[in-house]
Amino acid sequence: MPMESPLKIFTEQLRDGKREEIEHALPPDFLAIQEPDLTFHSPIHLKGEAYATDDYLVLQLSAHTEVQMPCSICNEMTFITLKTEEIYHTIFFCDLTSTTFDFTDIVREEIVILIPQFVECQQGACPDRTQISKFMKNKAVSTPSSAENHFPFADL
Ligand SMILES: [Zn+2]
Repeated sequence: MPMESPLKIFTEQLRDGKREEIEHALPPDFLAIQEPDLTFHSPIHLKGEAYATDDYLVLQLSAHTEVQMPCSICNEMTFITLKTEEIYHTIFFCDLTSTTFDFTDIVREEIVILIPQFVECQQGACPDRTQISKFMKNKAVSTPSSAENHFPFADL
């Protein structure tokens, strides 16, 4: 039996303009995010609400957590806060196959796109930075391409 998901919306309960508050502190292993060198250090805090329009289920979510990753320069483990505010997800009702919508995958995706490609210890003042400043120049301009990798209409 898979673990019962706490991240479920019962769409029948959103009739007549009713909104459902979402607030969770999830154990990180619940999301089963497998990224090399990434260690979660606190629960994943999730807040938001769900409501329905005529055609859509709307989820508005904010999430934050803290992880530990190795500094991209010196490889020291360093704490990184992952935080997202008020991201909206809309799901067509006609795409839903049941009156229960599990949004675990949406939360997982939101967290994954927050993971930076480049991490620097000491709030950007890595002691080893000067040794590889040339390398830094190239690295610093690259933006995480996964930021565009956001699917509000994910397959259900
Ligand atoms: Zn460093």
